[in-house]
Amino acid sequence: MDTLRATLREILLKSRQNRNANDSPPETNEDEPPDCPRCRGRGWVSPNVPFNHPQRYELKPCVCQAETFNQQRIDRAWFPAGPAKTFANFEPVPGTEEAVALSHQWIARETSANVLTLAGPNGCGKSHLTEAIGRAMVAAGVSTRYAYAPDLLHEIRSTFHDESSDPDAMLEHYRRFGVLLIDDLGAINPTAWGVKTLSEMMDYRYRSGLLMVVAVNRSMTEIAKMMDPDIADRLWDARSGRTLVARITAPSYRTDETWVRS
Ligand SMILES: [Zn+2]
Repeated sequence: MDTLRATLREILLKSRQNRNANDSPPETNEDEPPDCPRCRGRGWVSPNVPFNHPQRYELKPCVCQAETFNQQRIDRAWFPAGPAKTFANFEPVPGTEEAVALSHQWIARETSANVLTLAGPNGCGKSHLTEAIGRAMVAAGVSTRYAYAPDLLHEIRSTFHDESSDPDAMLEHYRRFGVLLIDDLGAINPTAWGVKTLSEMMDYRYRSGLLMVVAVNRSMTEIAKMMDPDIADRLWDARSGRTLVARITAPSYRTDETWVRS
């Protein structure tokens, strides 16, 4: 009976590990003594309930795998190459205080808004803040995807080749990320194929309550012309409670009004 039980447990463990293939811990070598007494080197633990309890095989990652999972989330987030940009190494310039405060509020979910719009001129730290938000979400265990807007457009184009591609497949593809960060939306080529699809994807996340951060250096009017009036409405929507708009008003750029809501 014990052998059968052990075999059954092994099968269930393997099936669970396969199901969680995206979050698989590293392979363990059965010949080596386990490093972790809690999971005996398996990386997974079952709840402390009787053998016949329905939750017995609801395996969870062991605490010893926290760093591995964190690194996997970082790898999948596609953050820009180079040193990590975090809140700790953000050097605020005057005019960024409100954006930083609102970013923290949004990360802590102390707001009903699922969309965070970081609006401000180039060179004021939007990209740094966007990545810092992403890294904070990763640390909180959220599956995160960072995308420079023109690259995202390219990705949509290469993945969903032509007009006959199923838009639902595209929505499904990006839906799996707990948070999507779109950096430098104003840098896209408005005539590029895929802008409509990108608009639909952003609209979908807005309407579905999925988390999204958008950094933009254009005005609402410009985005309406470049993409879609509805998307502009979503990104600057301060009335429904679905969007938190963080404006960066770095003093050196105050003469440049192009990004201010018009
Ligand atoms: Zn362990």
